[in-house]
Amino acid sequence: MDRIDLRSDTVTLPSPGMRKAMADALVGDDQYGEDPTVRRLQERVAGLLGKEAALFLPSGTMANQTGLKLLTRPGDDVIVSDEAHIVWHESGAAAANAGVQFTVVGHGGLFTAADFQAAYKPPGHIIFPPTTLVTIENTHNRGGGVVFPQAEVIAICAAARKLGVGTYLDGARLFNAAAATGQSLAELAVPADLVSVALSKGLGCPVGSLIAGRKADIDRAVRVRRMFGGAMRQSGIIAAAGLYALDHNVSRLTEDHANARLLAEGLVGVRGVGLDLATVQSNIVIFRTADGAPDAATVVARAKEKGVLVGAFAARTVRAVTHLDVTRDQARRASEVLAAAVAAR
Ligand SMILES: *Cc1c(COP(=O)(O)O)cnc(C)c1O
Repeated sequence: MDRIDLRSDTVTLPSPGMRKAMADALVGDDQYGEDPTVRRLQERVAGLLGKEAALFLPSGTMANQTGLKLLTRPGDDVIVSDEAHIVWHESGAAAANAGVQFTVVGHGGLFTAADFQAAYKPPGHIIFPPTTLVTIENTHNRGGGVVFPQAEVIAICAAARKLGVGTYLDGARLFNAAAATGQSLAELAVPADLVSVALSKGLGCPVGSLIAGRKADIDRAVRVRRMFGGAMRQSGIIAAAGLYALDHNVSRLTEDHANARLLAEGLVGVRGVGLDLATVQSNIVIFRTADGAPDAATVVARAKEKGVLVGAFAARTVRAVTHLDVTRDQARRASEVLAAAVAAR
């Protein structure tokens, strides 16, 4: 029985073509600025995002932490969406590294400029922590892969700029947002001061993220990366995978989205499944199990017995993620297995 692994789009394995590109990569010591492949990747991604410069980092978490470190001071307040990756999935790093606190606004991973303005705390107040940064996550992972409406991104970033507040776009899944909307990466990234993208999610690379923005900020990011232990040497070996993915794995993201849709459609209407199809906009399907139906751990265990791996995101919340190592037939099969796992009492 072949295993269908929908725990995350990070589980993809580098393809033979990607491995060959990695093996053939020209490399040098990147901390001397001498890795030509890393430089090419950084220039290419900066161009795609419409930013002056970009920096290659080992992970999306380090990209987020670098963004926080660059745009805040300890004790500052950062406005974020509910269920944000930066709050839930980074082991408390923001408190430990940048020393900031979060104010969570909105619902389902999204918020409005009005939400931002209502939560904003001015500098110079005798008791409030000053808000110096707002972060937006697009697509929103725990929100079910929803796309952050671009008009709202523009409005939030404009409101922030007026108040002197920095803007950071957690774009680990920005390639999916671009695929879902047909907008370019640059269009999606332009409102934000700093933006990150991940290579190790839908793009299928083994390692890597980039942060992009103004050249002055990226110059400072080089030091932060070193402080965080993320400065690398012959990292062209992994940057080559990124260049390969940009050539081969971007236009196919719509297939993952169609497969997620297929999987979700097979679950909607199944007794005990709570799923709003409107939230299935990219390659993530998050559904809830009703009271009386099996809980998430039970669904995960039952599906595993049938060779389908998914994740329990909360007591009654299950996440399935499609990616380039999952075929349409496998998505259909996974949907049937999950439906049966919930429906059986
Ligand atoms: C996966 C992810 C990250 C972090 O990526 P890692 O490479 O796993 O550290 C950050 N933000 C979002 C929205 C993600 O989905």
